[in-house]
Order: sequence, then structure tokens, then C-alpha cells
Amino acid sequence: MTTSPYDAIVLGAGAAGLMCAAVAGQRGKRVLLLDHADQVGKKILISGGGRCNFTNVNTAPDRFLSANPHFAKSALARYTPADFIALVERHGIAYHEKTLGQLFCDGSAKAIVAMLLAEAAAAGVEIRTGQPVRAVDHADGRFRVQFGEASFSATALVIATGGPSIPKMGATGFAYDLARQFGLKVVEPRPALVPLTLGGDDVLFRELSGIAAPVEARAGKAAFREAALFTHKGLSGPAILQVSSYWRHGEPVTIDFLPGAPKDWLLDAKRARPRATLHAALGTMLPDRLAETLAERLALPGELAAQTDRKIADAESRLARWIFHPNGTEGFAKAEVTVGGISTAGLSSQTMVAKTVPNLYAVGEAVDVTGWLGGYNFQWAWASGHAAGQVI
Ligand SMILES: Cc1cc2nc3c(=O)[nH]c(=O)nc-3n(C[C@H](O)[C@H](O)[C@H](O)COP(=O)(O)OP(=O)(O)OC[C@H]3O[C@@H](n4cnc5c(N)ncnc54)[C@H](O)[C@@H]3O)c2cc1C
Repeated sequence: MTTSPYDAIVLGAGAAGLMCAAVAGQRGKRVLLLDHADQVGKKILISGGGRCNFTNVNTAPDRFLSANPHFAKSALARYTPADFIALVERHGIAYHEKTLGQLFCDGSAKAIVAMLLAEAAAAGVEIRTGQPVRAVDHADGRFRVQFGEASFSATALVIATGGPSIPKMGATGFAYDLARQFGLKVVEPRPALVPLTLGGDDVLFRELSGIAAPVEARAGKAAFREAALFTHKGLSGPAILQVSSYWRHGEPVTIDFLPGAPKDWLLDAKRARPRATLHAALGTMLPDRLAETLAERLALPGELAAQTDRKIADAESRLARWIFHPNGTEGFAKAEVTVGGISTAGLSSQTMVAKTVPNLYAVGEAVDVTGWLGGYNFQWAWASGHAAGQVI
């Protein structure tokens, strides 16, 4: 059993923990970074299809979900995408903007982990991995962490163990257990940025597995215009992943299959091509099998000319507000992130310190702040890790 005099122990060597430890170390703090996985930054390595969508230049507080939508503002304003881009450039990592402000490495996500490890090493951060955190306690103004057979203590403790999304990557709900142990509340965690499953009447759409189309998807008040993808279980693709974060069990998801089409386009099609079928008219704008399925469901057989204008107008409005009733999500096993987590009500938005437990901090995905798809979640990890790293 060893007890070392650290200023801070950071639990979790993912995006937020690595950033927090490096920033604190650069300020001369003695920092120990612990992770139960055998390798640090595993989610960074698999992120963005292996190229890590490390930030989004359009980062703004309204692109984050939280019970307190104001909470993320301070940290996001003090560590911006430009700050992270400057770090990436200092390390000579080539990158590009893919779409919608999303920045990806030109090469492998390994470069981002290597960069964070280099920053941590230069700051004198000690990293230990591959042992379970067996116990954490707090006495006489110090936190004690039992890590495998070893025991360490420090003045400050940072919870950076992320959320439970993708357990096979080593993700756990440990952050929530720890938060509760110290009297912090946890907003019910839900899988987010996750495919939705279809059952009942919608099950026929599963036959379209593999087909994608640009749509506008809505859940509650949120709407995203991106691609949707049919899968053998239901719906996926960026538009669906985005709305999944807002979707609640029992609620519908509405899809506009032709978000760019002008009003009355189907009536115009009837006038321009009266002999065409609905399937053919739709087929000019949508993948053929999707056009066929939608036309079948709209049940307007024969030529467009044979339909009343009223029926044509009704079909057009159904295509603009097609209602799906997902029966669930593919769960934490397939979710990119977790909505909910350690309640921001118990944390300072300036420093991420717990209001009721001196020197206890929570950062990253463990906290009830969740970004949209597109690099926002890493930006939150960097910004919140930086905010805590500056003060511990
Ligand atoms: C497949 C996939 C792709 C993604 N792609 C992107 C993307 O391109 N852009 C983007 O912005 N976001 C992406 N995300 C989300 C992003 O990875 C997370 O939001 C981000 O990693 C959160 O950072 P974090 O440091 O809070 O948690 P994590 O990066 O998850 O780090 C938590 C660390 O804590 C450790 N840990 C967990 N439990 C314990 C425990 N009990 N004891 C000790 N250590 C523990 C874990 O091993 C891990 O190293 C993706 C997520 C997934 C799953």
C-alpha cells in the first residue's frame, strides 16, 4: 500500500480527463491520472470512424442538451474550438472540415491521443492504467483512491469516467455511483445519438435496410435536416441520431421525406405528368425502393390523373410529416453518448467543482451536458476538462 502526496487524482483517462490532467500539470500541480482500461483514450481512437471529429467550428451553447441549458456556456466560452485547433496545429496534426463545421484528422485519431499524452507527459502527469478503482473515500480533507492493490491520495479528485455508452469500450456508470456517494444528484441517463428501433406497423420499413435519403427528422421541438438511413432494426443515419437525443419513449418521430420540395410539388407533378404513377413521381426524387414503399402505403393506385387534387394534397402532406412510432432505441450498446448524468445543479459552471464537496470535480460526458453529433461532445470534454484543470 502506497500513499503519495498528489495535488489531484483524475479518474478516467478519456478526452476530458487527459485534458484536465495536462492543464493542471502545466500549472505545476502534481497530478495522477487513473484508468481501469489497459489503454487511454479508447473512445477517441474509435471516434469519427477512426479519424476523430475533434471539434465543431459552429460550437454554441444551443447545440448541447442539459437540464440547465445555461450551464455549459461559461466553460465553452473560455475554451473554444479555436483553442483546440491551435493545439492540434502546434502538434502538426493535419485536419479538414468535412461538413457542417465538423473538423476531422486527415489521418488517424491516434494523433489526437498521442498529442494529449505528449501534453500530459510534458506537464509531468503520472498515468496508471489497467487496474480497477476499488474504492474512493474522503477524510481529513484528502481523497483516497484504492486502485488495484495500490492506494493513492490527493487534495482534489476529478470524476472524468464518462458515461455508460458502449460498455464494450470500458464505459461504465461509475461516475454516477461516485457522484451519489458524495451526495450529488444524477439526472436519469438515457442513450443518445443512437439508432431507433421500429415495430408494429412500421416494421415494413425495415425491408428498406441500407437505403438512405436526405430528410428532415423531428422529435419534440428538435428538427435536423440530414440523411436518414433505414436499418434491419429501424432507423439510423445522422438525422435520426440527432433526434434520438431529444426523443422520449412513446413519442413519435416525424420525417419530411422531401424537405427541399416546393409546396404543391405533387399537384404540379400531376399536371406535368398525368400518366405517371405516384411511385414514378416519387422515384424522381427518392431512392426507388423507398419511393415504392411510400407509394404503397399512401395507397393511391394508378395514374396521378386518376386521383382527386384533394387526395394528391393529402399525400403530399403525409410525405412531409410521415409519422413513425419507434418502440425503443438500440440502447447503450450502440449509443455514441449519454444524455443526463451528474446534475449540473450541484456543480459550479465556472470550475466544475461540486458545490457541497470541496475539491471534488466532475467533467466531460459524466456531467449532464450532451452535445449534438458532429464534434460537439469532444468540445465539451476539452472545455470542461480545461475549466477544472485551471483551478485544481
Ligand atoms: C463510436 C463513438 C464515436 C464517437 N465519435 C465522436 C466524434 O467523432 N466526435 C465527438 O465529439 N464525439 C464522439 N463521440 C463521443 C465522445 O467519444 C465522448 O463524448 C467523449 O469521449 C467523452 O469524453 P470523456 O472524457 O468524458 O469520457 P471518455 O472519453 O468515455 O473517457 C472516460 C474514461 O474513463 C474510464 N473509465 C470508465 N469507467 C471507469 C472506472 N470505473 N474506473 C476507471 N476508469 C474508468 C474509461 O476507460 C475511459 O478511458 C463518439 C462516441 C462513440 C462511442
